[in-house]
Amino acid sequence: MEWLTDRLALQCWRDGVVGEVAFVPTMGALHEGHLSLVRAARVVSRRVIVSIFVNPTQFGPQEDFARYPRVLVQDRLLLEAAGCDAVFVPSVEEMYRGSGQTRVQVEPLGSDLCGQFRPGHFQGVATVVLMLLNLVRPQWLYLGWKDYQQVVVVRRMVEDLAVPVQVVGVGTVREADGLAMSSRNRYLAEVERGQAVGVVRALQAGQAAWRAGTRQVASLQEVARVVLAQHGITVIDYIALRQAESLLPFPDAQIEDQAVVMLLAVRMGTTRLIDNLVFAL
Ligand code: AMP
Repeated sequence: MEWLTDRLALQCWRDGVVGEVAFVPTMGALHEGHLSLVRAARVVSRRVIVSIFVNPTQFGPQEDFARYPRVLVQDRLLLEAAGCDAVFVPSVEEMYRGSGQTRVQVEPLGSDLCGQFRPGHFQGVATVVLMLLNLVRPQWLYLGWKDYQQVVVVRRMVEDLAVPVQVVGVGTVREADGLAMSSRNRYLAEVERGQAVGVVRALQAGQAAWRAGTRQVASLQEVARVVLAQHGITVIDYIALRQAESLLPFPDAQIEDQAVVMLLAVRMGTTRLIDNLVFAL
């Protein structure tokens, strides 16, 4: 496995690849969720490259950039075992060598949902993902549905800017009790970790109500809110029901029979957790 710390080394590796390249961008502190992307990307006749870059421009001033877990030695071992071909691990200086004047905005989508609570986040994400795509030049980009809005934002950018890459979404990998795996779960205190399962339980309760015929947005939100409260989760950024493809809200309080995604963002102490569930018709 090649360990590439600068753009030049990346270009040399990329120029030497004969077949197709699949790319998995990450911020490191890898877990099974990340590794499932690597495995999904690993198809015979393709090379898989992972980036590990904690991107400062997608963190707000009060957010966890400084304390975000950085465990490169462990990440390297996990990627090697997962059959990754190359890892791009640039420093912030190496990544942002340009003037920094150019930004990619996907609006209004990027200011919705998480964007409302994390101003500038998706601009940071879209800009760094486009940069990474330009550096890596992959045919395939693998992203996790765990970050549902991120997939929709990146898909929009790729389509709107005619970026020559296929975006593939991979299902969320969960802990045994259902909690979506996340690098941020390690911030949770023991009590909070116990309560955190309320996030997926709330989504499942919403789904059960949906299956039982509930179609009022407010009723479905209330079902989820009650379950969160039962688990001691009261600081809620949003409980949203959206059209699954576009993430647009439903024009009426009542949802017609169409694909729906329920998205949650909550705070437990200083940790922000997000999760989502698609309600099939
Ligand atoms: P991150 O390191 O948090 O930026 O995540 C890197 C990629 O891994 C993103 O595309 C995430 O959506 C994806 N990812 C993170 N957690 C999970 C998970 N539990 N299941 C599947 N994909 C995940």
